[in-house]
Amino acid sequence: MTINIAIVGAGPAGLYAADALLKVLPESQIDVFEKYPPPYGLIRYGVAPDHYKTRNTSRQFARTLEDNNVGYFGNVDIGSDITFAELKENYNAIILAVGAYNDRELGIPGEKLPGVYGACAFVGWYNGHPEFRDLNPKLDQPGVAVIGIGNVALDVCRVLAKTRNEHSNSDISEYALQSIEKAPLEELHMFGRRGPIEAGFTPKELGETRDLERCHALVDSGQLPETVEGEFEGREKGIKEKNLNILKELANRAVEKKPISMNFSFYSSPKEILGVDRVEGIRLEKTEVIDGRAVPTGEEFEVPCGTVVTAIGYHTAPISGVTLDGGIIKNSGGRVDRGIYVVGWAKRGPSGTIPTNGPDSRDVVDLIASELESTNKAGREAINALLEKRNIRRINFEDWQLISEQEFAQAITPRPRERFTRVEDMLAVLEKSA
Ligand SMILES: Cc1cc2nc3c(=O)[nH]c(=O)nc-3n(C[C@H](O)[C@H](O)[C@H](O)COP(=O)(O)OP(=O)(O)OC[C@H]3O[C@@H](n4cnc5c(N)ncnc54)[C@H](O)[C@@H]3O)c2cc1C
Repeated sequence: MTINIAIVGAGPAGLYAADALLKVLPESQIDVFEKYPPPYGLIRYGVAPDHYKTRNTSRQFARTLEDNNVGYFGNVDIGSDITFAELKENYNAIILAVGAYNDRELGIPGEKLPGVYGACAFVGWYNGHPEFRDLNPKLDQPGVAVIGIGNVALDVCRVLAKTRNEHSNSDISEYALQSIEKAPLEELHMFGRRGPIEAGFTPKELGETRDLERCHALVDSGQLPETVEGEFEGREKGIKEKNLNILKELANRAVEKKPISMNFSFYSSPKEILGVDRVEGIRLEKTEVIDGRAVPTGEEFEVPCGTVVTAIGYHTAPISGVTLDGGIIKNSGGRVDRGIYVVGWAKRGPSGTIPTNGPDSRDVVDLIASELESTNKAGREAINALLEKRNIRRINFEDWQLISEQEFAQAITPRPRERFTRVEDMLAVLEKSA
Protein backbone atom coordinates (compact mmCIF):
# COMPACT_ATOMS: atom_id res chain seq x y z
CA MET A 1 0.00 0.00 0.00
CA THR A 2 1.30 3.47 -0.91
CA ILE A 3 1.77 6.01 1.85
CA ASN A 4 0.46 9.37 0.65
CA ILE A 5 1.90 12.49 2.21
CA ALA A 6 0.87 16.07 1.44
CA ILE A 7 3.13 19.05 2.02
CA VAL A 8 1.45 22.46 1.96
CA GLY A 9 3.90 25.16 0.86
CA ALA A 10 6.89 24.82 -1.48
CA GLY A 11 9.27 27.08 0.46
CA PRO A 12 12.54 25.84 1.96
CA ALA A 13 10.89 24.16 4.97
CA GLY A 14 8.44 22.17 2.83
CA LEU A 15 11.11 21.14 0.36
CA TYR A 16 13.61 20.13 3.06
CA ALA A 17 10.80 17.99 4.46
CA ALA A 18 10.15 16.44 1.02
CA ASP A 19 13.84 15.64 0.69
CA ALA A 20 13.93 14.03 4.14
CA LEU A 21 10.79 11.98 3.38
CA LEU A 22 12.43 10.60 0.23
CA LYS A 23 15.21 9.25 2.46
CA VAL A 24 13.22 8.17 5.51
CA LEU A 25 10.08 6.86 3.76
CA PRO A 26 11.33 6.05 0.24
CA GLU A 27 8.15 4.20 -0.71
CA SER A 28 5.89 7.16 -0.02
CA GLN A 29 4.21 9.35 -2.61
CA ILE A 30 4.75 13.01 -1.72
CA ASP A 31 2.59 15.81 -3.10
CA VAL A 32 3.74 19.40 -2.62
CA PHE A 33 1.00 22.03 -2.85
CA GLU A 34 1.89 25.66 -3.51
CA LYS A 35 -0.57 28.47 -3.99
CA TYR A 36 1.47 30.28 -6.66
CA PRO A 37 2.80 28.67 -9.83
CA PRO A 38 6.49 29.12 -8.85
CA PRO A 39 7.98 26.96 -6.11
CA TYR A 40 10.61 28.03 -3.53
CA GLY A 41 8.61 30.43 -1.30
CA LEU A 42 10.71 33.27 0.04
CA ILE A 43 13.77 32.17 -1.90
CA ARG A 44 11.93 33.67 -4.86
CA TYR A 45 9.73 36.32 -3.21
CA GLY A 46 11.68 37.34 -0.08
CA VAL A 47 15.45 37.04 -0.60
CA ALA A 48 16.76 40.32 -1.99
CA PRO A 49 17.09 40.32 -5.78
CA ASP A 50 20.74 41.42 -5.60
CA HIS A 51 21.54 38.33 -3.53
CA TYR A 52 21.35 36.24 -6.62
CA LYS A 53 23.66 33.52 -5.28
CA THR A 54 21.29 32.93 -2.34
CA ARG A 55 18.40 32.64 -4.75
CA ASN A 56 20.34 29.95 -6.58
CA THR A 57 19.98 27.68 -3.56
CA SER A 58 16.66 26.83 -5.23
CA ARG A 59 18.68 24.48 -7.49
CA GLN A 60 19.10 21.97 -4.66
CA PHE A 61 15.33 22.00 -4.15
CA ALA A 62 14.67 21.53 -7.87
CA ARG A 63 16.33 18.12 -7.61
CA THR A 64 13.81 17.14 -4.94
CA LEU A 65 10.87 18.31 -7.06
CA GLU A 66 12.20 16.30 -10.00
CA ASP A 67 12.10 13.05 -8.04
CA ASN A 68 9.59 10.51 -9.39
CA ASN A 69 8.00 10.12 -5.99
CA VAL A 70 7.30 13.84 -5.67
CA GLY A 71 4.33 15.54 -7.33
CA TYR A 72 4.31 19.35 -7.62
CA PHE A 73 0.90 21.02 -7.40
CA GLY A 74 1.70 24.67 -8.12
CA ASN A 75 -1.14 27.21 -8.43
CA VAL A 76 -3.22 25.25 -5.89
CA ASP A 77 -4.25 27.15 -2.75
CA ILE A 78 -5.03 24.91 0.21
CA GLY A 79 -7.99 26.48 1.92
CA SER A 80 -9.71 27.70 -1.22
CA ASP A 81 -8.91 25.46 -4.25
CA ILE A 82 -8.68 22.32 -2.10
CA THR A 83 -9.87 22.41 1.49
CA PHE A 84 -7.81 21.25 4.44
CA ALA A 85 -10.57 18.69 5.17
CA GLU A 86 -10.14 17.25 1.66
CA LEU A 87 -6.41 16.87 2.23
CA LYS A 88 -7.06 15.07 5.53
CA GLU A 89 -9.43 12.71 3.79
CA ASN A 90 -6.90 11.77 1.12
CA TYR A 91 -3.46 11.68 2.78
CA ASN A 92 -1.86 9.60 5.54
CA ALA A 93 0.02 12.65 6.82
CA ILE A 94 0.00 16.38 6.12
CA ILE A 95 2.94 18.70 6.66
CA LEU A 96 2.02 22.37 6.88
CA ALA A 97 4.91 24.43 5.54
CA VAL A 98 2.99 27.62 4.83
CA GLY A 99 5.53 30.05 6.29
CA ALA A 100 4.75 33.17 8.29
CA TYR A 101 5.04 35.93 5.80
CA ASN A 102 2.23 38.35 6.58
CA ASP A 103 3.09 41.73 8.08
CA ARG A 104 2.50 42.49 11.72
CA GLU A 105 0.98 45.90 12.33
CA LEU A 106 2.77 48.67 14.26
CA GLY A 107 -0.42 49.68 16.05
CA ILE A 108 0.22 53.43 15.92
CA PRO A 109 -1.85 56.30 14.47
CA GLY A 110 -1.30 57.03 10.79
CA GLU A 111 -0.49 53.43 9.90
CA LYS A 112 -3.22 53.34 7.24
CA LEU A 113 -2.05 56.48 5.41
CA PRO A 114 -1.14 56.07 1.75
CA GLY A 115 2.62 55.63 1.59
CA VAL A 116 2.85 53.10 4.46
CA TYR A 117 3.74 49.55 3.37
CA GLY A 118 4.49 46.33 5.17
CA ALA A 119 7.78 44.70 4.17
CA CYS A 120 5.95 41.69 2.65
CA ALA A 121 4.18 43.98 0.20
CA PHE A 122 7.19 46.20 -0.47
CA VAL A 123 9.68 43.33 -0.87
CA GLY A 124 7.04 41.44 -2.89
CA TRP A 125 6.73 44.47 -5.19
CA TYR A 126 10.41 44.66 -6.13
CA ASN A 127 10.56 40.87 -6.35
CA GLY A 128 7.67 40.66 -8.83
CA HIS A 129 5.22 38.86 -6.54
CA PRO A 130 1.84 38.49 -8.33
CA GLU A 131 -0.05 39.88 -5.32
CA PHE A 132 2.12 42.98 -4.99
CA ARG A 133 3.36 43.73 -8.49
CA ASP A 134 0.75 46.52 -8.77
CA LEU A 135 1.58 48.07 -5.38
CA ASN A 136 3.12 51.07 -7.14
CA PRO A 137 4.59 52.40 -3.87
CA LYS A 138 4.90 56.13 -3.38
CA LEU A 139 8.58 56.90 -3.92
CA ASP A 140 8.19 60.56 -4.78
CA GLN A 141 9.83 62.23 -1.77
CA PRO A 142 13.49 62.39 -0.67
CA GLY A 143 12.89 60.54 2.62
CA VAL A 144 12.03 56.88 3.24
CA ALA A 145 11.68 55.50 6.78
CA VAL A 146 12.10 51.78 7.36
CA ILE A 147 10.92 50.56 10.76
CA GLY A 148 13.03 47.65 11.88
CA ILE A 149 16.71 46.84 12.40
CA GLY A 150 17.08 43.39 10.92
CA ASN A 151 18.20 42.01 7.58
CA VAL A 152 14.86 42.72 5.89
CA ALA A 153 15.20 46.43 6.75
CA LEU A 154 18.76 46.35 5.41
CA ASP A 155 17.57 44.63 2.22
CA VAL A 156 14.91 47.28 1.61
CA CYS A 157 17.37 50.15 2.12
CA ARG A 158 20.10 48.54 0.02
CA VAL A 159 17.77 47.67 -2.87
CA LEU A 160 16.53 51.30 -2.90
CA ALA A 161 20.07 52.66 -2.66
CA LYS A 162 21.59 50.64 -5.47
CA THR A 163 22.00 51.97 -9.00
CA ARG A 164 21.00 50.08 -12.16
CA ASN A 165 24.66 49.25 -12.56
CA GLU A 166 24.79 47.73 -9.08
CA HIS A 167 21.66 45.73 -9.93
CA SER A 168 23.35 44.18 -12.98
CA ASN A 169 23.53 40.73 -11.36
CA SER A 170 20.13 41.06 -9.73
CA ASP A 171 16.76 39.80 -10.88
CA ILE A 172 14.85 42.80 -9.61
CA SER A 173 11.74 43.40 -11.72
CA GLU A 174 12.31 46.02 -14.39
CA TYR A 175 9.25 48.08 -13.37
CA ALA A 176 10.62 48.33 -9.80
CA LEU A 177 14.09 49.28 -10.98
CA GLN A 178 12.64 52.02 -13.18
CA SER A 179 10.58 53.33 -10.31
CA ILE A 180 13.62 53.35 -7.97
CA GLU A 181 15.73 55.11 -10.62
CA LYS A 182 13.12 57.86 -10.94
CA ALA A 183 12.67 58.34 -7.18
CA PRO A 184 14.26 61.54 -5.80
CA LEU A 185 15.79 59.61 -2.86
CA GLU A 186 18.14 61.42 -0.50
CA GLU A 187 17.61 59.97 2.97
CA LEU A 188 16.93 56.38 3.89
CA HIS A 189 16.29 55.92 7.61
CA MET A 190 16.30 52.69 9.56
CA PHE A 191 14.68 53.03 12.98
CA GLY A 192 14.91 50.47 15.76
CA ARG A 193 13.43 50.64 19.25
CA ARG A 194 16.42 48.90 20.72
CA GLY A 195 20.17 49.28 20.29
CA PRO A 196 22.90 48.02 17.95
CA ILE A 197 23.53 44.90 20.06
CA GLU A 198 19.87 43.86 19.91
CA ALA A 199 19.69 44.49 16.14
CA GLY A 200 19.00 41.38 14.05
CA PHE A 201 21.56 42.13 11.31
CA THR A 202 24.04 39.56 10.09
CA PRO A 203 27.58 40.81 9.40
CA LYS A 204 27.51 40.00 5.68
CA GLU A 205 24.38 42.07 5.04
CA LEU A 206 25.55 44.88 7.31
CA GLY A 207 28.97 44.95 5.60
CA GLU A 208 27.32 45.44 2.22
CA THR A 209 26.29 48.97 3.24
CA ARG A 210 29.97 50.03 3.33
CA ASP A 211 30.52 50.51 -0.30
CA LEU A 212 27.50 51.58 -2.31
CA GLU A 213 27.92 53.69 -5.46
CA ARG A 214 25.51 56.48 -4.63
CA CYS A 215 24.81 55.95 -0.92
CA HIS A 216 26.79 56.58 2.25
CA ALA A 217 25.83 54.73 5.45
CA LEU A 218 25.79 56.92 8.56
CA VAL A 219 26.02 55.65 12.13
CA ASP A 220 26.14 57.84 15.25
CA SER A 221 29.15 56.68 17.27
CA GLY A 222 27.36 57.96 20.39
CA GLN A 223 24.86 55.10 20.00
CA LEU A 224 27.54 52.40 19.99
CA PRO A 225 28.81 50.65 23.13
CA GLU A 226 32.52 49.94 23.59
CA THR A 227 32.05 46.16 23.72
CA VAL A 228 29.34 43.50 23.52
CA GLU A 229 28.26 42.67 27.06
CA GLY A 230 25.88 39.97 28.27
CA GLU A 231 25.11 36.30 27.81
CA PHE A 232 24.48 34.98 24.31
CA GLU A 233 23.86 31.52 22.92
CA GLY A 234 26.34 29.72 20.66
CA ARG A 235 27.76 31.83 17.85
CA GLU A 236 25.57 34.78 18.68
CA LYS A 237 28.16 36.75 20.61
CA GLY A 238 30.66 36.51 17.73
CA ILE A 239 28.00 37.80 15.31
CA LYS A 240 27.21 40.73 17.60
CA GLU A 241 30.91 41.56 17.90
CA LYS A 242 31.36 41.52 14.12
CA ASN A 243 28.30 43.76 13.74
CA LEU A 244 29.61 46.19 16.33
CA ASN A 245 32.97 46.40 14.55
CA ILE A 246 31.28 47.16 11.22
CA LEU A 247 29.04 49.79 12.84
CA LYS A 248 32.12 51.41 14.46
CA GLU A 249 33.87 51.42 11.10
CA LEU A 250 30.83 53.12 9.51
CA ALA A 251 30.63 55.64 12.35
CA ASN A 252 34.30 56.57 12.34
CA ARG A 253 35.12 56.88 8.65
CA ALA A 254 35.10 60.19 6.79
CA VAL A 255 31.68 61.13 5.40
CA GLU A 256 31.68 60.82 1.62
CA LYS A 257 29.45 63.20 -0.31
CA LYS A 258 26.99 60.93 -2.09
CA PRO A 259 23.42 61.66 -3.23
CA ILE A 260 21.83 59.31 -0.67
CA SER A 261 22.50 58.72 3.01
CA MET A 262 21.45 55.56 4.85
CA ASN A 263 20.94 56.52 8.48
CA PHE A 264 20.99 53.89 11.21
CA SER A 265 18.92 55.22 14.12
CA PHE A 266 18.81 53.02 17.20
CA TYR A 267 16.83 53.70 20.40
CA SER A 268 13.95 55.21 18.38
CA SER A 269 10.39 54.02 18.89
CA PRO A 270 7.75 55.08 16.32
CA LYS A 271 4.77 56.87 17.89
CA GLU A 272 2.81 58.23 14.94
CA ILE A 273 2.98 58.37 11.18
CA LEU A 274 2.28 61.97 10.26
CA GLY A 275 0.30 63.34 7.34
CA VAL A 276 -3.18 64.28 6.19
CA ASP A 277 -3.82 62.53 2.87
CA ARG A 278 -0.53 60.68 2.74
CA VAL A 279 2.66 60.12 4.71
CA GLU A 280 4.54 63.33 5.38
CA GLY A 281 6.76 62.27 8.25
CA ILE A 282 7.14 60.14 11.33
CA ARG A 283 7.22 61.01 15.02
CA LEU A 284 9.41 58.86 17.24
CA GLU A 285 10.34 58.69 20.89
CA LYS A 286 13.86 58.09 22.12
CA THR A 287 14.32 54.99 24.23
CA GLU A 288 16.95 53.42 26.42
CA VAL A 289 17.51 49.69 26.69
CA ILE A 290 17.18 48.25 30.19
CA ASP A 291 17.54 44.46 30.61
CA GLY A 292 17.15 44.02 26.87
CA ARG A 293 13.90 46.00 26.74
CA ALA A 294 13.27 49.39 25.12
CA VAL A 295 12.07 51.86 27.74
CA PRO A 296 10.61 55.21 26.58
CA THR A 297 12.39 58.38 27.70
CA GLY A 298 9.62 60.89 26.87
CA GLU A 299 11.88 62.73 24.42
CA GLU A 300 10.26 62.88 20.96
CA PHE A 301 11.49 63.91 17.53
CA GLU A 302 10.11 64.04 13.99
CA VAL A 303 11.62 63.07 10.66
CA PRO A 304 10.12 64.08 7.30
CA CYS A 305 9.53 61.24 4.82
CA GLY A 306 7.08 60.30 2.06
CA THR A 307 7.28 56.52 2.45
CA VAL A 308 7.27 54.23 5.47
CA VAL A 309 8.11 50.52 5.25
CA THR A 310 7.49 48.41 8.35
CA ALA A 311 9.72 45.38 8.83
CA ILE A 312 8.82 44.45 12.40
CA GLY A 313 7.77 40.82 12.23
CA TYR A 314 5.40 38.46 10.53
CA HIS A 315 2.65 35.98 11.27
CA THR A 316 1.13 32.91 9.62
CA ALA A 317 -2.10 33.44 7.68
CA PRO A 318 -5.09 31.44 8.96
CA ILE A 319 -6.19 28.27 7.15
CA SER A 320 -9.68 27.02 7.90
CA GLY A 321 -9.45 24.00 10.21
CA VAL A 322 -5.96 24.86 11.58
CA THR A 323 -5.50 26.59 14.97
CA LEU A 324 -3.08 29.49 15.25
CA ASP A 325 -1.18 30.42 18.38
CA GLY A 326 0.48 33.85 18.60
CA GLY A 327 1.22 34.13 14.90
CA ILE A 328 2.30 30.53 14.23
CA ILE A 329 0.43 27.24 13.86
CA LYS A 330 -0.27 25.74 17.28
CA ASN A 331 2.03 22.74 17.67
CA SER A 332 4.11 20.75 20.05
CA GLY A 333 7.54 19.96 18.62
CA GLY A 334 6.04 20.03 15.11
CA ARG A 335 2.95 17.90 15.84
CA VAL A 336 -0.33 19.74 15.29
CA ASP A 337 -2.77 16.86 15.57
CA ARG A 338 -2.95 13.19 14.65
CA GLY A 339 -1.37 12.94 11.17
CA ILE A 340 -0.88 16.71 10.92
CA TYR A 341 2.53 18.37 11.30
CA VAL A 342 4.12 21.75 10.81
CA VAL A 343 7.62 22.85 9.79
CA GLY A 344 9.56 26.06 9.09
CA TRP A 345 8.41 29.56 9.92
CA ALA A 346 4.83 28.38 10.47
CA LYS A 347 6.20 26.17 13.27
CA ARG A 348 8.85 28.37 14.87
CA GLY A 349 7.96 31.88 13.77
CA PRO A 350 9.87 34.15 11.42
CA SER A 351 13.48 33.56 12.40
CA GLY A 352 16.44 31.85 10.87
CA THR A 353 17.91 31.58 7.42
CA ILE A 354 17.13 29.11 4.64
CA PRO A 355 19.47 26.37 6.00
CA THR A 356 18.01 26.74 9.52
CA ASN A 357 14.89 25.05 8.18
CA GLY A 358 16.79 21.88 7.21
CA PRO A 359 17.40 20.18 10.58
CA ASP A 360 14.03 21.38 11.80
CA SER A 361 12.16 19.73 8.90
CA ARG A 362 14.24 16.55 9.23
CA ASP A 363 13.33 16.23 12.92
CA VAL A 364 9.63 16.53 12.09
CA VAL A 365 9.96 13.91 9.33
CA ASP A 366 11.54 11.51 11.86
CA LEU A 367 8.57 12.15 14.13
CA ILE A 368 6.15 11.41 11.27
CA ALA A 369 7.95 8.17 10.44
CA SER A 370 7.70 7.07 14.06
CA GLU A 371 3.93 7.47 14.28
CA LEU A 372 2.61 7.07 10.74
CA GLU A 373 -0.71 5.25 10.34
CA SER A 374 -0.82 3.28 7.12
CA THR A 375 -4.52 3.32 6.32
CA ASN A 376 -5.56 3.30 2.69
CA LYS A 377 -5.80 6.84 1.28
CA ALA A 378 -6.54 7.90 -2.29
CA GLY A 379 -3.81 10.58 -2.47
CA ARG A 380 -3.16 12.46 -5.69
CA GLU A 381 -5.74 10.63 -7.85
CA ALA A 382 -8.53 12.11 -5.75
CA ILE A 383 -6.96 15.56 -5.71
CA ASN A 384 -6.37 15.61 -9.46
CA ALA A 385 -10.03 14.69 -9.96
CA LEU A 386 -11.16 17.54 -7.68
CA LEU A 387 -8.92 20.05 -9.46
CA GLU A 388 -10.24 18.99 -12.83
CA LYS A 389 -13.83 19.23 -11.64
CA ARG A 390 -13.14 22.73 -10.28
CA ASN A 391 -11.35 23.78 -13.44
CA ILE A 392 -8.15 24.65 -11.57
CA ARG A 393 -4.99 24.57 -13.62
CA ARG A 394 -2.39 22.65 -11.66
CA ILE A 395 1.19 23.59 -12.53
CA ASN A 396 3.43 20.55 -12.39
CA PHE A 397 7.20 20.80 -12.14
CA GLU A 398 7.75 20.44 -15.90
CA ASP A 399 5.30 23.29 -16.47
CA TRP A 400 7.24 25.39 -14.00
CA GLN A 401 10.52 24.63 -15.73
CA LEU A 402 9.05 25.88 -19.03
CA ILE A 403 7.94 29.12 -17.38
CA SER A 404 11.29 29.48 -15.68
CA GLU A 405 13.21 28.97 -18.96
CA GLN A 406 11.13 31.71 -20.54
CA GLU A 407 12.05 34.07 -17.67
CA PHE A 408 15.73 33.54 -18.50
CA ALA A 409 15.01 33.95 -22.23
CA GLN A 410 13.34 37.32 -21.66
CA ALA A 411 16.11 38.70 -19.41
CA ILE A 412 16.96 42.36 -19.86
CA THR A 413 20.73 42.21 -20.10
CA PRO A 414 22.95 42.28 -18.16
CA ARG A 415 20.47 41.07 -15.55
CA PRO A 416 20.08 37.27 -15.59
CA ARG A 417 16.31 36.92 -15.58
CA GLU A 418 13.09 38.90 -15.97
CA ARG A 419 10.29 37.30 -13.99
CA PHE A 420 6.69 36.86 -14.92
CA THR A 421 4.75 38.83 -12.36
CA ARG A 422 1.21 37.84 -13.32
CA VAL A 423 -0.17 34.32 -13.00
CA GLU A 424 -2.04 34.68 -16.32
CA ASP A 425 1.25 35.44 -18.11
CA MET A 426 2.80 32.31 -16.60
CA LEU A 427 -0.17 30.24 -17.76
CA ALA A 428 0.04 31.81 -21.23
CA VAL A 429 3.57 30.39 -21.62
CA LEU A 430 2.11 26.92 -21.14
CA GLU A 431 -0.73 27.52 -23.56
CA LYS A 432 1.70 28.68 -26.22
CA SER A 433 3.90 25.63 -25.78
CA ALA A 434 0.96 23.18 -25.78
C1 LIG B 1 12.48 39.59 3.03
C2 LIG B 1 13.23 38.33 3.44
C3 LIG B 1 14.53 38.13 3.00
C4 LIG B 1 15.21 36.97 3.39
N1 LIG B 1 16.48 36.79 2.93
C5 LIG B 1 17.17 35.67 3.26
C6 LIG B 1 18.49 35.47 2.78
O1 LIG B 1 19.06 36.32 2.07
N2 LIG B 1 19.13 34.30 3.14
C7 LIG B 1 18.53 33.35 3.92
O2 LIG B 1 19.13 32.30 4.19
N3 LIG B 1 17.26 33.54 4.40
C8 LIG B 1 16.57 34.65 4.09
N4 LIG B 1 15.31 34.85 4.56
C9 LIG B 1 14.72 33.80 5.43
C10 LIG B 1 14.15 32.62 4.61
O3 LIG B 1 13.47 33.14 3.50
C11 LIG B 1 13.23 31.77 5.50
O4 LIG B 1 14.03 31.15 6.49
C12 LIG B 1 12.49 30.67 4.75
O5 LIG B 1 11.95 31.12 3.53
C13 LIG B 1 11.35 30.09 5.60
O6 LIG B 1 10.86 28.96 4.92
P1 LIG B 1 9.36 28.45 4.98
O7 LIG B 1 9.31 27.34 4.00
O8 LIG B 1 8.98 28.21 6.38
O9 LIG B 1 8.45 29.68 4.48
P2 LIG B 1 8.26 30.34 3.05
O10 LIG B 1 9.56 30.49 2.34
O11 LIG B 1 7.46 31.57 3.30
O12 LIG B 1 7.38 29.30 2.22
C14 LIG B 1 6.03 29.07 2.49
C15 LIG B 1 5.31 28.72 1.20
O13 LIG B 1 3.99 28.28 1.50
C16 LIG B 1 3.12 28.80 0.50
N5 LIG B 1 1.75 28.80 1.04
C17 LIG B 1 1.29 29.58 2.07
N6 LIG B 1 0.00 29.31 2.28
C18 LIG B 1 -0.37 28.36 1.40
C19 LIG B 1 -1.61 27.71 1.13
N7 LIG B 1 -2.70 27.97 1.84
N8 LIG B 1 -1.65 26.79 0.14
C20 LIG B 1 -0.53 26.51 -0.60
N9 LIG B 1 0.65 27.12 -0.38
C21 LIG B 1 0.75 28.03 0.60
C22 LIG B 1 3.69 30.17 0.24
O14 LIG B 1 3.21 30.71 -0.99
C23 LIG B 1 5.18 29.90 0.25
O15 LIG B 1 5.64 29.55 -1.03
C24 LIG B 1 14.60 36.00 4.21
C25 LIG B 1 13.28 36.23 4.66
C26 LIG B 1 12.62 37.38 4.28
C27 LIG B 1 11.22 37.61 4.80
